[in-house]
Amino acid sequence: MSSDHIKIVWIYPDLLSTYGDQGNTLVLERRAALRGIPTETVHLRSDEPVPQDGDIYLLGGGEDRPQILAAQRLRNDGGLHAAARRNAVIFAVCAGYQIMGHEFGGDEGQPLPGLGLLDIRSYRGQQRAVGEVVSDVAAELQVPRVTGFENHMGATTIGPNARPFSKVVSGVGNGDGQGFEGAYQGHILGTYMHGPALVRNPALADLLLTWALGRQLQPLEPSWSERLRDERLNAVVPS
Ligand code: GLN
Repeated sequence: MSSDHIKIVWIYPDLLSTYGDQGNTLVLERRAALRGIPTETVHLRSDEPVPQDGDIYLLGGGEDRPQILAAQRLRNDGGLHAAARRNAVIFAVCAGYQIMGHEFGGDEGQPLPGLGLLDIRSYRGQQRAVGEVVSDVAAELQVPRVTGFENHMGATTIGPNARPFSKVVSGVGNGDGQGFEGAYQGHILGTYMHGPALVRNPALADLLLTWALGRQLQPLEPSWSERLRDERLNAVVPS
């Protein structure tokens, strides 16, 4: 991976992009640019081949049927698997998160194969999880408490090769009975958090940039992004 340029691939905006998830690309571009790091973003439609030379791949949420189609196309394409073998960064939200796992529940709740890149299994839960979610991130990731918006029927369990991304303070998250939200494995990180998640949680955006560059980043002055995070955190868990 180049140290002075980041190629961002926004996977299938025509199928996977709910609740403003595309904002995740914008905040990565912005926080790289503020540090003088150029970025290039590819908006990859679902009828195009997945480029294998990306540094950060982003997947958003989606309705059940577009999610099924996206999973089929990504499985057939194989480009995301190749990128994962190169240790590229993959950040996947909600439907995208479920697709990264071994299987997920389809529109009738039927188990369908995912990409198997993240050791998780998803299935249709008992009731829809909708609303604000706040969680405390695994200490080793050094990201402060995160805030997002969730809307999903699916629930997700984490296998031995992946780790919980965070522990729920308020909201549902994975809905696995263990109180976890999201999962990560190497440079692949999945979460149920929309918001968009990286806009609400600038430290999480910086974690992905750090992974992509393989080095620490120069700190930035607090911006509207930190103010948005504070405002959303306060709305859910008043300090
Ligand atoms: N269709 C999936 C579910 O309901 C994902 C929803 C979403 O991405 N918002 O669980």
